[in-house]
Amino acid sequence: SYMHMHMHHPGSGFVGGKVPLGLKKKERRIVVTGGAGFVGSHLVDRLMERGDHVIVVDNFFTGRKDNLLHHLGNPNFELIRHDVVEPILLEVDQIYHLACPASPVHYKYNPVKTIKTNVVGTLNMLGLAKRVGARFLLTSTSEVYGDPLQHPQVETYWGNVNPIGVRSCYDEGKRTAETLTMDYHRGANLEVRIARIFNTYGPRMCIDDGRVVSNFVAQALRKEPMTVYGDGKQTRSFQYVSDLVEGLIRLMEGDHVGPFNLGNPGEFTMLELAKVVQDTIDSEAKIEFRPNTEDDPHKRKPDITRAKELLGWEPKISLRQGLPLMVTDFRKRIFGDHSETTT
Ligand code: NAD
Ligand code: UDP
Ligand code: UDP
Repeated sequence: SYMHMHMHHPGSGFVGGKVPLGLKKKERRIVVTGGAGFVGSHLVDRLMERGDHVIVVDNFFTGRKDNLLHHLGNPNFELIRHDVVEPILLEVDQIYHLACPASPVHYKYNPVKTIKTNVVGTLNMLGLAKRVGARFLLTSTSEVYGDPLQHPQVETYWGNVNPIGVRSCYDEGKRTAETLTMDYHRGANLEVRIARIFNTYGPRMCIDDGRVVSNFVAQALRKEPMTVYGDGKQTRSFQYVSDLVEGLIRLMEGDHVGPFNLGNPGEFTMLELAKVVQDTIDSEAKIEFRPNTEDDPHKRKPDITRAKELLGWEPKISLRQGLPLMVTDFRKRIFGDHSETTT
């Protein structure tokens, strides 16, 4: 059952149990690459709460020190400015490998760098995991399904990806990262886990990352029209960040390699999303149509049967519940509270 999962960890003998008197609890050391980013910083919060020793490795390309300010000075926390494209030596028990720009605007900014991060960066973290015998979790993406011809997407679907398009640096980069992960698993007997993450939103997202939820929320707050690309009938399924973090931890602690879809099956057209934003922020918010970007997937919705059955996981927070939590954070960051902008 899922309750026994933690027993499989090196150095985790006392997790969840009583520590015998006179013996120091052997804490686990966990690396989170990309830990200064949106998802990574929420993951770090949960791991720190649990009492683990957390080492963040991040080059601050899209991440911010602000996201981790509350842990600086904590002896259980270390922040290393480092680019995963370069090798690194660390002694750790687990590696959550998130380092990679996630928004199309950011990953298209320097596509060759995005590929290097996905391929060379992932290779380095796998080499590190192999050397120290750590368990390795890759955050892959629903983008490996491309513009899917199967709906909803099941993990056994191989996808429909353009290998030479403007999104390929990310899609194909992540597909190669998955391949590397499985080859280290098979070839070097490494313990690995693969998550395929679907669109996720929440506090600490970059305000100007160009993703649809951050754009609509920032635009509605600033009394600007919400920019709908194309006809607005394309769909996405939006997951609140705390649901994702719970899924990532269950995956890491569990006994299954995956890949696992981690996403909220609630599917919305961009026009429906705009309506939810109007209801949440400003019923007067206007919509403005813009040409769509190249190779934009027409629809996306996770089949999460596998994660439900094998991880006992499913999302708890609907879009209408989660969006206000993000709006509170965006309001603060857009309209002031200057204490949050100093590093
Ligand atoms: P993010 O951009 O907020 O975080 C990525 C972090 O990685 C940032 O802190 C960035 O500075 C760091 N980074 C980037 N390149 C690096 C490099 N070469 N070396 C070291 N650090 C580097 O994005 P996020 O939304 O938090 O995404 C985290 C992970 O989840 C990514 O791997 C992304 O592909 C995956 N993912 C996210 C979503 C989503 O909707 N947010 C969906 C699918 C997959
Ligand atoms: N690597 C790393 N840290 C380590 C061990 C390896 O960054 O602690 C890097 C190493 O530089 C190499 C990659 O991981 O580029 C793959 O390592 P591996 O030992 O699997 O392969 P090899 O070095 O034999 O190519
Ligand atoms: N999109 C939009 N308006 C925006 C930004 C994005 O209509 O201001 C659309 C975009 O065309 C895509 C969807 O929203 O169909 C999701 O885009 P996003 O960049 O958030 O994520 P991804 O395409 O990676 O799923």
